[in-house]
Amino acid sequence: MKILTMENLKKYTTIRIGGTAAQLYIPESREELMNLLTDLQGEEIRILSGGSNILMNDERVFPHVIYMEQFDRELRHLGDGRFYCGASVRLQKLIQYTNEYGYGGIEYLMSVPGMIGGAVVMNAGRGRKHNQTISDYIVEVEVWQDGQVRKMSKQECQFSHRNSIFKHQNMVILSVVFQFLPEEKELLVEKRKARIEYSKNLQDNSRYNFGSVFCSCNNIAMRMIKRFQFCKKGEISFSKKTSNWLLNKGNGTFREAMTVMNKAERLNRLLGTKAEKEVIIWE
Ligand SMILES: Cc1cc2nc3c(=O)[nH]c(=O)nc-3n(C[C@H](O)[C@H](O)[C@H](O)COP(=O)(O)OP(=O)(O)OC[C@H]3O[C@@H](n4cnc5c(N)ncnc54)[C@H](O)[C@@H]3O)c2cc1C
Repeated sequence: MKILTMENLKKYTTIRIGGTAAQLYIPESREELMNLLTDLQGEEIRILSGGSNILMNDERVFPHVIYMEQFDRELRHLGDGRFYCGASVRLQKLIQYTNEYGYGGIEYLMSVPGMIGGAVVMNAGRGRKHNQTISDYIVEVEVWQDGQVRKMSKQECQFSHRNSIFKHQNMVILSVVFQFLPEEKELLVEKRKARIEYSKNLQDNSRYNFGSVFCSCNNIAMRMIKRFQFCKKGEISFSKKTSNWLLNKGNGTFREAMTVMNKAERLNRLLGTKAEKEVIIWE
């Protein structure tokens, strides 16, 4: 296992704002991860996957950070559309793999830069009105908790919009079993292409970002912010192209991002809406 000391985590996040990991562990197998988790029991640990939904305090040193990119990248077709997927697998890999077998369901996540572990924690999906999330296809999730490995049924995972039990309890996701639906391969190719096009046309990837800031917010407030901004000269601003997306020119800081988001929250409140942050904050 690779262990990096005093590693700046900026490059591990899509918004390019990072704190420092006193120790950044990169387990290369499931066994290494399990031994590490056992050794670190009782310590403050943070789990980092694609880093595409985390805003880290860049003034902090986090004692133990585990980077999940390598420990389990296995994908296996178990038959009849059932798939085993290690938590390190990227969403695009899972989609392409299942599509090759003629199964699909989550092609709309083609543009999401996360790993399966992070996507399950966040219950990644389409906007609220579409009511489509990765959990639609989950059969069970294998987790580590307090030294034990166990399998949790979909019901036990308590999925709801951008939410799951994993956001609130100290559990580490190891793998997931999915049940996808049979579909024409050509149609699946079209769906993948359509999502990439959608992302190119409607999502603002001109700067670093973590996708949506709030999982619920007031559309009028967000339109007002898009138009007037709070601080035009700063490194951090809301996107003019994609509502509810925060952009970092490259040198933005945690404090600046929090200030801009808190202002947006206040404006939402003034208009009678409690804006709920989707992004996970590492204070
Ligand atoms: C360009 C862009 C587009 C996006 N589009 C969408 C979208 O369409 N829909 C959507 O829902 N989201 C979207 N997002 C947000 C984000 O990509 C998703 O939430 C993604 O699923 C997060 O996965 P991740 O691997 O990056 O997780 P991370 O950001 O690394 O982690 C998220 C949380 O999960 C925890 N975690 C990660 N892995 C594990 C594990 N194995 N066990 C336990 N805890 C773990 C972390 O500690 C953290 O609390 C977008 C982001 C970007 C940058």
